[in-house]
Amino acid sequence: MVRGPGPTTKIWRDGVLVDWADATIHVLAHSVHYGSSVFEGVRCYEGPNGGNVFRLREHMRRLADSAKIYRLAMKHSIDDMVNAVVETIAANDLTECYIRPLVMRSGEQMGVWAKDIPVETFVICYHWPTLLGDAAMEKGADVRVSSWRRAAPDTFPTLAKAGGNYLNSQLSAMEARLDDYAEGIMLDSNGWVAEGSGQNLFVVRDNILYTAPISSGILHGITRDSIMRFGADLGYEVKEMVMPREFLYIADEAFFCGTAAEITPIRTIDQLPVGDAKPGPVTKRLREQYMGICRGTVPDKYGWLTPVPVAEPAASAR
Ligand code: PMP
Repeated sequence: MVRGPGPTTKIWRDGVLVDWADATIHVLAHSVHYGSSVFEGVRCYEGPNGGNVFRLREHMRRLADSAKIYRLAMKHSIDDMVNAVVETIAANDLTECYIRPLVMRSGEQMGVWAKDIPVETFVICYHWPTLLGDAAMEKGADVRVSSWRRAAPDTFPTLAKAGGNYLNSQLSAMEARLDDYAEGIMLDSNGWVAEGSGQNLFVVRDNILYTAPISSGILHGITRDSIMRFGADLGYEVKEMVMPREFLYIADEAFFCGTAAEITPIRTIDQLPVGDAKPGPVTKRLREQYMGICRGTVPDKYGWLTPVPVAEPAASAR
């Protein structure tokens, strides 16, 4: 069952499970001032036999990639991080949650140059319902094209999921909400369609699935990759395509996708209806397939689920 939003009880800190309130850092931590953290967003879903984490290894690989790009010396291997996530979910006695692994320059330092600054790794479990809310999930989100662009390729590395990169996302999300939109769609530095503040984007036209290529300044989302794979297996043609803004306006359907937002249909873009402005059949079918795999009701033929062991009940509780 999805609860929340809200905290859990234990946080993994470099191999030690500490209480939620004790997972603190200093105000002079380098990452607070200069955005020098990398992180992941992962979900664990309750299935018929307990909790399963969706594409955990791929998320931990991207975490290691992000750390490498930003020259953060990670102390833990991908395997160690996979185990740490499973251990933290089990320690919180959860079968369903959002997971936020985080590697940060937590050492205190004044000055940008990150010389010999201690790096710490955390795994946080959080109760977090779908990002854009149940109403958007049901009826579709009303979104605008943002006036903020994704970073140009020679400015910030967008393939790294790094704390500092999200200042750009914050500007776009704040602008959208101030104008009563659910979210913004950012264009890249050349004016082509990129993605949302924390989601990738698909456009459906004539039953073909279109999504921006990684050269359009997007994060290479794991949900996006999953949809490209199972979408093709369901018989859809899938195209990574450089998209002009107006391609959004002539879509039959459009949807956001991401770990936090899952698959959220889009109802209007810049106040123009998308298709007939109801979540379309392709979006619905892809969403059913995605949630089905996540929740273990559709066979996981891709091997995407990592089961979380159920804590043994104490002898006295039996
Ligand atoms: N783009 C951005 C900017 C994001 O923050 C996210 C969330 N990680 C995504 C796309 C979607 O990625 P994923 O499907 O791996 O969660």
